[in-house]
Amino acid sequence: MAEPLLRVKDLVKHFPVRGGLFWRETERVHAVNGVSFEIEPGETLGLVGESGCGKSTTGRCVLRLIESTSGEVWFDGENVTALDRAGLRRLSRRMQIIFQDPYASLNPRMTVGAIIGEGLLVHGLARTRAEREARVAELLETVGLRPEHAQRYPHEFSGGQRQRIGIARALAVSPQLIVCDEPVSALDVSIQAQVINLLEDLQSRFGLAYLFIAHDLSVVEHISRRVAVMYLGRIVEIAPARELYASPQHPYTEALLSAVPIPDPTLKRRRIVLEGDVPNPIRPPSGCPFHTRCPLRKDPVCSAEVPPLRDLGGGHKVACHLRG
Ligand code: SF4
Repeated sequence: MAEPLLRVKDLVKHFPVRGGLFWRETERVHAVNGVSFEIEPGETLGLVGESGCGKSTTGRCVLRLIESTSGEVWFDGENVTALDRAGLRRLSRRMQIIFQDPYASLNPRMTVGAIIGEGLLVHGLARTRAEREARVAELLETVGLRPEHAQRYPHEFSGGQRQRIGIARALAVSPQLIVCDEPVSALDVSIQAQVINLLEDLQSRFGLAYLFIAHDLSVVEHISRRVAVMYLGRIVEIAPARELYASPQHPYTEALLSAVPIPDPTLKRRRIVLEGDVPNPIRPPSGCPFHTRCPLRKDPVCSAEVPPLRDLGGGHKVACHLRG
């Protein structure tokens, strides 16, 4: 079988919590606890979970925007976790990110043309100013904006347009993988669909792979080939999208899915309301991380043993003692 474009192996990220007179580490936030997945060229993997489950931290560790505590990230056969600064710069041409808040991620003092053209400059992808301007104009048209928008500033655009500028900036260096970190969460529902359609379009035109992070299963349903569900720093279920939506195996996935509206009004889905809050990642529960809220919990096994991610076949894996 061909090598995947991205392979993440046992990724762990713990953030130290410091305090006291000597600012010593007193506790640790267990943000990501042994996450593994792969992404094929041109594929979208949806990564879903409630806020604070570690999905954005995972995306940032993949790009090394933050350093992981342990684990490995391989991109196109290259060990990203071992790269030096020059290697990382080279790799940043091939892996890009789109952020949730398109306004905060665009420098308000730079024109849109300068923002989009920055990557071309840094990576020497345009020899002359005229060449750079022509490429920026082409990128603006590619994302549904007009070439003359290059002269304007981010505050002159709506949220959806600003996200298109963020997408053009990511596209400028012709990457193979884009980490889409909740790219539509801050947008109105009607605009969300437009941005997702644009991302799908760009994927088929340029063969892009996406790690598409979202807190809502309905957002990733159409764009993802496979979906991974995270809870408290772990992947609890991963499956081809169609199978996950039709036949979820983990009680947490079932609860998330029960909140997704069904377009057919004659069909009804029983809403599963989870009791309690997500536990504090500084002191994650023993055993299954979901046992404090799970309606199917069986003791002593659920509170004592961490369930492994078991292979159910056909690319479907689940971490639950009662399933599989
Ligand atoms: Fe629920 Fe137990 Fe399965 Fe965890 S292992 S999801 S607590 S049934």
